[in-house]
Amino acid sequence: MEKIEKILVAHDFSENSEHAFNYAYTLAKNFNARLILIHVIHEALDLRGFYVPHISFDVLDKEIEESAKQMMEKFCQSHLRDFPNYESSVVIGVPYLEILKKAKEENVSMIVMGTQGLTGVAHLLFGSTAERVLRNAKCPILVVNLPQAE
Ligand code: AMP
Repeated sequence: MEKIEKILVAHDFSENSEHAFNYAYTLAKNFNARLILIHVIHEALDLRGFYVPHISFDVLDKEIEESAKQMMEKFCQSHLRDFPNYESSVVIGVPYLEILKKAKEENVSMIVMGTQGLTGVAHLLFGSTAERVLRNAKCPILVVNLPQAE
């Protein structure tokens, strides 16, 4: 088996991805691996300058990015106090593409993510980030679902 040196964990601040993060954290501790957290600000359909002036979007974009970075910082401070071997990033784009890009750039040993496990129409409408990453990644992936209530 390849050595587990870097673990990428995709975090969307949902309960699912926090649950997945716990697995990534345990694995990183056990394998003495570096934990790389990524959050992707979902890039909206770009209609800037068409309906409203460009400037108002720029201000909003900055606020969104600032607030996402603060959320990430807060999460890391509360969950990784005793684990300094980590880095985090907040980027803008399409989540599955940015997750794949980061995995390639960092040459990670594995990716850990959650899943909402959407089915039926919801799955058709929204698609699944986990599924898209799973189909295209070059490294192993751990997809963690939330335990179902009995
Ligand atoms: P799915 O329910 O299949 O769409 O996948 C949800 C999982 O994908 C989450 O638990 C995260 O691990 C990851 N994910 C989805 N959106 C994002 C995002 N914007 N940034 C980082 N990870 C994300």
